[in-house]
Amino acid sequence: MPSDVAPASQPLLAVRGLVKSFGDLTVLHGVDLDLWPGRVHALIGPSGSGKTTVLRSLNGLEVAEQGTLTTPDWSIDLASGLSRADRARLAALSSMVFQQHHLFPHLTVLDNVIVGPTVVQRVPRQEAVERAMALLERVGLAEKAAARPSELSGGQQQRVGIVRALAMRPQMLLFDEPTSALDPELVGEVLKVVGELADDGWTMAIVTHELAFARAVADTVSFFDHGVVVEQGTPEQLFDNPQSERLQRFLRRLT
Ligand code: ADP
Repeated sequence: MPSDVAPASQPLLAVRGLVKSFGDLTVLHGVDLDLWPGRVHALIGPSGSGKTTVLRSLNGLEVAEQGTLTTPDWSIDLASGLSRADRARLAALSSMVFQQHHLFPHLTVLDNVIVGPTVVQRVPRQEAVERAMALLERVGLAEKAAARPSELSGGQQQRVGIVRALAMRPQMLLFDEPTSALDPELVGEVLKVVGELADDGWTMAIVTHELAFARAVADTVSFFDHGVVVEQGTPEQLFDNPQSERLQRFLRRLT
């Protein structure tokens, strides 16, 4: 959806009261987030503050023990666990781009992109191939369709990871530190693709330690520390006028 349409009255996904523990360790202590259609939400904060766990809880890779996930069409109360139908709803809502691309090494780039649509969504192969080629074209990788992942640079592999997420035609994209496994000189090409998707009006949640990028691309930034959102606002509010001592300290360390 283009980002210049009238503002929506309801978030595409409203997250409320997310609580998640691993064994005795509670890592999310009641997280609230609104992901608005056509907007980019950056999740920043120290390592271990719970950002990735939030993202994984949004598409069912982790199941938080408390909280609600609400879209305009449905609401899931996580306290009752995830039903099969809930998992299907979450899978249709979002696709995740991981730190490491997790491409299948024995498959070609094209087959990596079409495996989800054809196997999971039962899209006819020819249609999946056409969609995949259009997406690969868009990120400048059409000529690599027959290559194996090992023949690609890290940045190219991550762009294929992004295409694979797009090929599922989700309503939103979730990025978990998409550039943190890359050599510094490859970061730019991946962030450029993410920025173009933002310009195209994709709804996105991005866990990132690239603060300059978050500032440039995000509409809203949430600062996490110890499993809570300490501060949330526009990039200007958070980066130029941080209110909490914790965010001030975090920014000082990084600048
Ligand atoms: P961030 O993305 O901010 O670095 P994470 O969400 O990855 O933080 O981790 C939050 C906390 O949860 C950390 O203390 C981490 O060690 C812990 N954690 C994450 N995943 C697991 C897991 N599968 N098992 C046990 N602890 C985990």
